[in-house]
Amino acid sequence: MKIPLSQNLLERFLRYVKIDTMSDPHVIDQRPTSAGQIELLRLLEQELREIGLKDLAFDPKGYLIARIPAKLPKGKKAPTIGFMAHVDVADDVMGNGVKPRVIETYDGKDIVLNDTYTLAVKENPELLSYLGHSLVVTDGTTLLGGDNKAGVAILMVLAEQLMSPDSIEHGPVELIFTTDEETGAGMDAFDVNQLKSRCCYTVDGGGFGEIEAECFNAATVEVDFTGIPFHLGAARGRMVNSVSMAVTFLAAIPQAESPEATDGRYGYYCAEEISGSLAQTHVVLYLRDFEMAELERRIDALQSLAVTTEKLFPGGKVTLQSKIVYQNMYDSIKKDPLIMQAIWQAGENLGIKLEEKIIRGGTDGARLAEMGIPTPNIFTGSHNLHSRFEWVAVSAMEESALLVEQIVSFWAGVSI
Ligand SMILES: [Zn+2]
Repeated sequence: MKIPLSQNLLERFLRYVKIDTMSDPHVIDQRPTSAGQIELLRLLEQELREIGLKDLAFDPKGYLIARIPAKLPKGKKAPTIGFMAHVDVADDVMGNGVKPRVIETYDGKDIVLNDTYTLAVKENPELLSYLGHSLVVTDGTTLLGGDNKAGVAILMVLAEQLMSPDSIEHGPVELIFTTDEETGAGMDAFDVNQLKSRCCYTVDGGGFGEIEAECFNAATVEVDFTGIPFHLGAARGRMVNSVSMAVTFLAAIPQAESPEATDGRYGYYCAEEISGSLAQTHVVLYLRDFEMAELERRIDALQSLAVTTEKLFPGGKVTLQSKIVYQNMYDSIKKDPLIMQAIWQAGENLGIKLEEKIIRGGTDGARLAEMGIPTPNIFTGSHNLHSRFEWVAVSAMEESALLVEQIVSFWAGVSI
């Protein structure tokens, strides 16, 4: 017998969040960065097999691709589309040992997580849109993992729906499960040639109704300051202190362009890491902006600053390296208007009010967009991501699952 959609989603979600899949950005020689991520990928592989899927590609580097064959009237063809979710969770707070708690009928009051932490309505007014609904919260000691296991559960339910005998008509669908998204390196070893998708959708967003087609352009800039050490008692005119050089360099960066002073479409510089001593100091900066030209302007400014710092400290050396880490995916999405139209139409069919937002960050979709597959992002019903106050509304997960199915249906009507 078929179980109700919300129960199916909830059961899957609870099963997946209990598996320890916290990724570790400090591990550089192992992919994925934690064993639990493989454990979850293997579980998904097995569950997809049980659903009846045969075309499954598991890659030990940390990817699972499931290909769902088309179900269309004879002679009809439709484009292949993809959906993507990541199995790892962030390490901003403890991400392992998650003990989810289900609140079956939310009563509108503050939610006590444990003796120390309470999820307050005042700080989370969105809670009030879920009076009488089911929520999932943490026990206050870890994050929940709605980012992105809510998305994983939604894709698994989609697979089940599309493989069932009474499914909607649909073209070929590719499901892509990835690892280490939170480290930013998750797509590094991904071979995009395996995919046939014309476009893809990450189901990795926030609260009900939010969709995203724009993310930051991102650069990492590493600066090395080399000084000249000397006995401090006889240093005059001889010693060059690399710590002072780094301080001078960093002090020149406008504070008005920092993450803590910007929001909306404003970009920033962020000194993310500093280490060193008199002889050598190393600084890592993150640069972000929605406009590539603005990102390049900031890289340029830092390059000029490096030259100026060298001039201010004769004998000292400053070297700078910059790297574009990911790019605003909107540039590729706007080339194919059907990609967003599919989402809007799906929302309209369901009577869901959608709202387009911008991501002050990146997603695996941004990386996929760079590889040639435009990939906007869809809400999962998760709130307060990466924190112990994370919570998920089951009904919003359900709406996301329905939306995703409608998107599949939209593309079934597009001929190729
Ligand atoms: Zn995520």
